[in-house]
Formats: sequence, structure tokens, C-alpha cells
Amino acid sequence: MNSLTAVGSIAYDSLETPFGRRDRALGGSAVHFALAANLFTDVGVVGVVGDDFDGESVLTERGIDTAGIQQIAGGTTFAWDGRYGFDLNVAETLDTRLGVFADFDPQLSEAEAASPVLFLGNIQPDLQRSVRRQSKAGLVALDSMNLWIEIAKESLLGAISEVDCVILNDGEARQLTGEATLVKAARAISQQGPRIVVIKRGEYGAALFTDQGFFGVPGYPLEEVFDPTGAGDSFAGGFVGYLAATGQTEPDLEHLRRAVAYGSIVASFNVEEFGTERVQRLTRDEVELRVAEFHAMTSFTLI
Ligand code: AMP
Repeated sequence: MNSLTAVGSIAYDSLETPFGRRDRALGGSAVHFALAANLFTDVGVVGVVGDDFDGESVLTERGIDTAGIQQIAGGTTFAWDGRYGFDLNVAETLDTRLGVFADFDPQLSEAEAASPVLFLGNIQPDLQRSVRRQSKAGLVALDSMNLWIEIAKESLLGAISEVDCVILNDGEARQLTGEATLVKAARAISQQGPRIVVIKRGEYGAALFTDQGFFGVPGYPLEEVFDPTGAGDSFAGGFVGYLAATGQTEPDLEHLRRAVAYGSIVASFNVEEFGTERVQRLTRDEVELRVAEFHAMTSFTLI
């Protein structure tokens, strides 16, 4: 049994940013998440791919458990084409080819259901609910995207009401709740049930709302950003991966604050290269060095 199980998309992404493009880069919410979480803890991925998929070794070389990846003969892997303008916080979906993802109906094995921590990555919210119900995890975190807020809002609100932690970006939190300020949006989300709400703000940082208090960090100041794809999922991987590694399913504010710092730092590496290229070869030592720098640049003394 792994400390952490992650369910989500496994994809080939064709990406266009002002700084270049990549065709068929390995991606998907579960892939970006697992590569990040794996820096902290043992993680297993549940997902579906077609017989065109050749990315499994990227995961297994990092020690990620791929037993939950189902390969469907005769089908193609989910493909997402996305573009970013100079505002790298806004992704434009150019095309989505669902392939085998259209019939994805994730079933957890006994070991996956017994994982103490579960991450419900970006997939159709009814599937997230189905997985949540199969799991015995003590800590369940959920991510989503604008698409589901637009076409499956009621299902998404239902899924949110059944998890402990919600991780969204600022635009999604506003769109979901209809609230203009992040404080009100976070409160509206936690009123649905989750005791931990994290709102990601792209290059501007991240904010944590819990009944134990608030915490916020700026973005790590990067001079060069190449591709923001997967930043949200690698933030979630760092955040949830760090929490899973503590072995606590009811994390206190100190652990949650540190988890936000780790999530932010892993995401900062992710955007330095295309797709999963950077996080694939990221080491825990590199993360620790940058976290120490981040700590120094965000602390001040009161006189
Ligand atoms: P983010 O971390 O928010 O940048 O998410 C990026 C990943 O989301 C990409 O690697 C895409 O493959 C994946 N993605 C895009 N659209 C969808 C979708 N409709 N369902 C699941 N995953 C998606």
C-alpha cells in the first residue's frame, strides 16, 4: 500500500507558449501530480491510457507505482492542446481528444482504497465522487478546472462536499462561488464541507484558509518561465505529498504552512521548462535549497 494514491488524467499535451512549443509532451493531472508528490512520499497513480502510450518508464524510473494505470487496446491516450499568451496564468484549450478517457471509470484496488491519503486530480466530478466513495483515506484532496465549473457545477459542488481539502486557482474559486474576494470565496467553499482550502494564484503565490487560521506566500521570483502547464498539479503534488509524508491525516497549521511552501517551490521548478521536463529530474536536495531561500525571502522581524 502506498501512502498516497492519485487519480487523474494521463495525457499527451501539445503546448504553445510565447517562448516555444512542444508536441505530445507527457502530461495530465495525475502525471504532473505524481512526479511532484514522489519527491516526498510513495505514490501510486490510477488512470487510463491507450496503446499509443509510452510514458510509463518516466514514472517507474522515479519509483512511482503504475499498477493502477489501465491500458486499453485499440484506444488512444487523452490528448490536450493548450495555448498561453503573455499572461501565463490563463490557459486556452485549443482542442481536447478524449480517446480512452471518454470511458474512464476508475476502480480502486484494495491497496489503493487503503491508502491513507487520496488525491482526486482533475477529472469529471462524478468520477471523483465515485473514487472518493471507494476510498478509506483519512485525508482526501481535490483539484478541478473551469470546464467542470461550467458544465458540471452541481456535481463538482457534491464532490467538494465529500472531501477534506480543495485546491483551486483564484479564477476557479471566484467562478465557482460567484464571490469577488478570495476570503469570501474560500469561506463559501469551506461551508460546503472541506476544512482546508488552498487557492493558487499563479505567479503571485498561494493562500491557505483553514479553521485554524490563514497563511499566504508570494510566488517564488523566477526570471524565466517557459510553460505553466502542470503548475497547479505540481503544486498539489508538493502540498499533498508533503502532508502524506508526515503520516498525519489531520494536519495542524504548522504542517499545512510548510506544505504550502513545498507546493509553491515544486511548482516554481515545473514552469522553468516544458511539460514534465524539469520535475522529472528534480531532486529533493534542489527543493530543500529553494525552500530555504523562500523561507529567507518571506520572513521579517518585528521591532
Ligand atoms: P494544470 O496543472 O492546471 O496546468 O493542468 C495541466 C494538465 O491538465 C495538462 O497536463 C492537461 O493534460 C490536463 N487537462 C487539460 N484538460 C483536461 C480535462 N478536461 N480533464 C483532465 N485533465 C485535463
